[in-house]
Amino acid sequence: MISVLQRVQHAKVEIDGKSVGATEQGLLILLGVAEGDTRAEADKLVKKIANLRIFEDENGKMNLSLLDIGGGVLVVTLEPCAMCAAALVHARLAGVVYGAADRLAGAVTSCTETLDQPFFNHRVWHMGGVLARESVDLLQDFFAGRRD
Ligand SMILES: [Zn+2]
Repeated sequence: MISVLQRVQHAKVEIDGKSVGATEQGLLILLGVAEGDTRAEADKLVKKIANLRIFEDENGKMNLSLLDIGGGVLVVTLEPCAMCAAALVHARLAGVVYGAADRLAGAVTSCTETLDQPFFNHRVWHMGGVLARESVDLLQDFFAGRRD
């Protein structure tokens, strides 16, 4: 599991001109999750990110955490596979934002269009390509490190 953080004053996702997700001051997080990552690792990462002292205090010093400022979070990741896409539908998630397309297993637009199938009784909006270049670089670096 790996993440890239970007401090933001404002971030939002719009589809067809309609805002479907937004945060004011906080973090935009590109999240990479790999097979074998555990819930414990996710909990540890969340705790770590929430407590990073990366926001300025009233003296301009990097001294405040996301929790201290009451900041928001917008998370993006790799295009979900068919199993994950179906899980998003069944969990009744409002939407998913991801960075890199997955040409080998992506089930949002790359290999199939799971989220847009008419037989599902719930719609999950989706948007890919957010920080796409950074997502690809991050994932390639991550997995290259695992192969060495
Ligand atoms: Zn998956």
